[in-house]
Amino acid sequence: MEIVILRLGHRPERDKRVTTHVALTGRAFGAKGMILSTEDESVKRSISDVSARWGGDFFVKTENWRQALQKWKQNGGKVCHLTMYGLHILDVLHEIRQVQRLMVVVGAEKVPREVFEIADWNVAVGHQPHSEVAALAVFLVLLLGEDALRTRFEDALLEIVPSERGKKVLRRSEKNGKK
Ligand code: SAM
Repeated sequence: MEIVILRLGHRPERDKRVTTHVALTGRAFGAKGMILSTEDESVKRSISDVSARWGGDFFVKTENWRQALQKWKQNGGKVCHLTMYGLHILDVLHEIRQVQRLMVVVGAEKVPREVFEIADWNVAVGHQPHSEVAALAVFLVLLLGEDALRTRFEDALLEIVPSERGKKVLRRSEKNGKK
């Protein structure tokens, strides 16, 4: 399944850190990239620095959210908006698993009513308020299964060697790692 995140309502002066964590979570758990509704070079830079060392080609680009959603749906993609007001994730997961291209919308500030209308599913990861980072992580792992927790990037320069204690990291040279 091709998964792209749409981060709505990002306010550069206050959401930088959380938005960066949304992208890192998406990258770690199987999404292909993130569309940001507001330009923020520093978020793009942080994610591209991570990918340069830890691998993969997770993209971050800025686009008008309405156009991004319309274009996605015109091209046959489906949209799932994560919101605590939605249907319980465990009740709709079987439908969402049938989809080939999925845009996952997460908010920062208040999400416009229109998004609730455009979405094919408004999905709650439990009906308590928490965080977009937690919502996305739980959603992706439930949707994609345990494989989402074993993401590896072939071109990584750094790779963790699991250890009971301490920190072991395998370092590849540019030549042997990234093409
Ligand atoms: N104050 C905002 C509002 O009223 O819409 C929401 C703030 S909340 C911290 C930010 C985002 O986290 C939401 O837009 C939603 O995507 C996600 N989120 C928080 N709790 C959630 C839940 N229980 N289920 C699904 N998504 C959730």
